Amino acid sequence: MLNAADVTFAETLTNAMPDLSVGPAEPRYLEEPRGRFRGQGGLLVRPASTDQVAGVLRLCNAASVGVVPYGGGTGLVGGQVIEDGPAPVILSLEKMTAVRSIDPHVMVVEAGATLADVQAAAEGVDRLFPLTIASQGSARIGGCLATNAGGVNVLRYGNARELCLGVEAVLADGTVISGLKRLRKDNTGYDIKDLLIGAEGTLGVITAASLRLFPRPAAIGTAMMVVPDPQAALDLLALAEARMPGCVSAFELIARQGLAFLEAVGPAVQQPFAPLPAWMVLIEIGLPVGLNPEQCLTDLFEAAGALVQDGVIAQSLAQRAQMWALRESIPEANKRIGSISSHDISVPLECLPAFIDEGYRRLAALGDMRVNCFGHVGDGNLHYNAFPAEGRERAAYEPIREEIKSTIHELVHEMGGSVSAEHGVGRLKVGDLERFGDAGKMDAMRAIKAALDPKGIMNPGAVLR
Ligand SMILES: Cc1cc2nc3c(=O)[nH]c(=O)nc-3n(C[C@H](O)[C@H](O)[C@H](O)COP(=O)(O)OP(=O)(O)OC[C@H]3O[C@@H](n4cnc5c(N)ncnc54)[C@H](O)[C@@H]3O)c2cc1C
Repeated sequence: MLNAADVTFAETLTNAMPDLSVGPAEPRYLEEPRGRFRGQGGLLVRPASTDQVAGVLRLCNAASVGVVPYGGGTGLVGGQVIEDGPAPVILSLEKMTAVRSIDPHVMVVEAGATLADVQAAAEGVDRLFPLTIASQGSARIGGCLATNAGGVNVLRYGNARELCLGVEAVLADGTVISGLKRLRKDNTGYDIKDLLIGAEGTLGVITAASLRLFPRPAAIGTAMMVVPDPQAALDLLALAEARMPGCVSAFELIARQGLAFLEAVGPAVQQPFAPLPAWMVLIEIGLPVGLNPEQCLTDLFEAAGALVQDGVIAQSLAQRAQMWALRESIPEANKRIGSISSHDISVPLECLPAFIDEGYRRLAALGDMRVNCFGHVGDGNLHYNAFPAEGRERAAYEPIREEIKSTIHELVHEMGGSVSAEHGVGRLKVGDLERFGDAGKMDAMRAIKAALDPKGIMNPGAVLR
């Protein structure tokens, strides 16, 4: 239901742009994957061009109406959902999906294309766009850039920022920045692209991007290996990178707790080892012509000695898919169990084993709970999530939920890490950013926000308050 102010503003928008798609926001635009935030409604606008985005922002700015840029709605920190204050305009990029140009090195694509479609377009010219996240069928490239998404291939190819050469964007007052450069080198003053990437829609709307494309590996090898502990996982990674420089594309750590959750509540997946190992890794390599991935992984297994206790190498695409299905089902199993507190953190690589141990110790001191720790360990990025002890209700932990979170974030901070490795700040971590962010950086961020969005219309309440 739209209120009177929304109806009047909808008329203002359609009077100025008769072709603009404007209507009430359907429920799916008001929800987010973890169910922590629920939007309050408002207008949904779906511009079909950069000019329309500029027109919408100009009118919103003039009327001081808040705007939430919206991609696929898969963000995990509530950046795409405003819960309180005046209802915002939700600006969805879903009608802007065109690949404007593509050559072997660069694709220029509009922000509303899904990540899966971007990957497929690259594949269509026999190239690779390597950004890979489990939500890629829904997440849109504008959202991936706005959150500087990471995922499983950061180890080899970098995160979204490193894959982007330029952006076209619209600032709060409707100014269009036409920055679709296709250059690796461009030292011409402030890099506005890098400001907009990771800004989570608080500085402007990304409408298109030029993206780097890569050669597709001639052969891919995937294996799961049982390691005695997280330090052995890191040593195995170092060995793999020394033996196959530049070829390790993914290296994921999985703890027994995650495997046990999958067994208990699903989704049903093929478990490669019995009994369930304390720790295992999923490793993927992409090789140039002439190298055999199975042989390389077998050689790694043999060279690893005591670092690897057991292993299985995918013999087919179907087995590779099974291995990835196990890894990618862990968040769903976590959701079914129901976490007390989830933490997307990173620490310097050498601190990672100590972080895991010390985290267990400090959480155990707070109460009886289970920890499922997994993730992109090659990037020092862990999803370190606390769950109720077997047979206990999540509600029983409500009084210590904040303490659990701050215990983990304090430890991350002590070790020089980040309280948001890849999901962003959104609305969930605004307080954490205030608490742990460098004072000078916070002042600079506020000054940038004030300069580019003086009325504060862009995603109000996200990242900064
Ligand atoms: C199952 C699952 C797995 C995931 N795995 C990963 C992972 O491995 N790594 C990872 O990094 N993330 C992961 N995510 C989180 C999420 O998919 C990413 O943050 C993704 O980049 C969000 O894209 P989106 O299009 O859905 O953005 P949305 O959720 O729509 O928006 C996210 C933020 O970006 C802003 N925004 C969206 N589009 C634009 C635009 N065009 N211009 C400016 N601002 C914009 C929004 O206002 C909001 O603040 C996962 C999520 C799920 C549900």
